[in-house]
Amino acid sequence: MNLNEYNYIVVGSGFFGAVIAERIANDLHERVLVIEKRNHPGGNCYSLDHPETGIHYHQFGTHIFHTSNPQVWNYIKRFTEFNGYHHQVLTTYKDRVYQMPINLETINNFYDLNLKPFEVKDFLAAEIIKTGIVEPHNFEEKALSLLGQALYEAFIKGYTKKQWGLNPTLIPMEILNRLPFRDNYDESYYFDPWQGIPQNGYTAIFKKMLNHELINVLLETDFIPLWKDIPKETKIIYSGPVDRLFDYKRGKLKWRSLSFVNGVEEVSDFQGTAVMNFAEEQIPYTRIHEPWHLHPEKENLQSKTLVIEEYSIADDGTNPYYPIRDESNLETLDKYQLDVATFDNLIVGGRLGDYKYYDMDQTIAKALETYSLIKNSHIGT
Ligand SMILES: Cc1cc2nc3c(=O)[nH]c(=O)nc-3n(C[C@H](O)[C@H](O)[C@H](O)COP(=O)(O)OP(=O)(O)OC[C@H]3O[C@@H](n4cnc5c(N)ncnc54)[C@H](O)[C@@H]3O)c2cc1C
Repeated sequence: MNLNEYNYIVVGSGFFGAVIAERIANDLHERVLVIEKRNHPGGNCYSLDHPETGIHYHQFGTHIFHTSNPQVWNYIKRFTEFNGYHHQVLTTYKDRVYQMPINLETINNFYDLNLKPFEVKDFLAAEIIKTGIVEPHNFEEKALSLLGQALYEAFIKGYTKKQWGLNPTLIPMEILNRLPFRDNYDESYYFDPWQGIPQNGYTAIFKKMLNHELINVLLETDFIPLWKDIPKETKIIYSGPVDRLFDYKRGKLKWRSLSFVNGVEEVSDFQGTAVMNFAEEQIPYTRIHEPWHLHPEKENLQSKTLVIEEYSIADDGTNPYYPIRDESNLETLDKYQLDVATFDNLIVGGRLGDYKYYDMDQTIAKALETYSLIKNSHIGT
């Protein structure tokens, strides 16, 4: 492989890298090399058919596309059709199923009441007063001050403990700026005007984006050992972890990770919905995914279904999922960002590069913004 042949090298083939590579090829008409560590494109949005059931699923957790950004919507529609899936989340607590985020139905079911929208705020205010919390100091106190004891204990406490591996009294309250709570029966998880699942899955989008004579994709290739051999004139767009780029010299940025366990149940419909949360601490997984529900246009006619248990685990460095953006990690991030700025030919971005949770539409928006900068500096040279 001759690294000198390319003016542009993109590291990572998730949405950040793939969108930029696609734009460089189609809009700048320049050759671009995409280097991807894994054996497939698509980053964490990768989707595939399950061998035993043939059901299409998302390997790194259920991904629902949703956006309010017209530029992103117009862009992504060029690579796929979306089905009409509308996301709804349910949670199981003590063998009963409730709506999430907490809405009027959750509250009425939980307390066995029939409150009206105009009554529920006063009802909750009375529950909150009982907690005695005036000025919250941590996640637990903040949640209690928004919901009262009973709802917090049922729906938030155990789930949060499992999700973060920490007692909620030790989690900063800033994580809980706004607890989604609805005083009506609205069951939609997202309010964006555009949402759905790509008809043929996410991987098909990446294949279409990267299928261009000016794009060369190198799978199963780690960029880090190659970096030293790349000419200084080559523009590098890196979407891997920023700390790894500098051999962790400023310290390791902390992440929370997930593990997924696939299983097959001998029924056509196991839980009646795509994602079921499990609020109780004693149940070791946080969620069960049943992917065929993501494609309501294709009924599951078999007497078996794919179910995926999701466990929240400590990060061992192999699968960073959620950044732990506390003060100390953000200080470390600042130092890495200064290191990045010392290179004229290096752009770092995406969720791993920016050490930030982005939804897919935000990642695409960031990639399109970054591409505009690349284009401007290309024109300027
Ligand atoms: C559990 C979970 C569920 C999510 N669900 C949703 C959802 O429902 N809706 C939504 O909008 N968003 C969702 N997201 C967010 C979505 O996954 C991200 O927005 C998107 O994946 C970010 O794309 P990216 O290109 O920045 O990163 P990634 O997809 O992680 O891609 C980065 C790529 O870089 C490669 N790479 C890293 N280092 C190197 C290296 N040294 N050499 C070569 N390659 C390298 C990696 O292998 C990877 O393929 C979810 C995220 C998580 C964690």
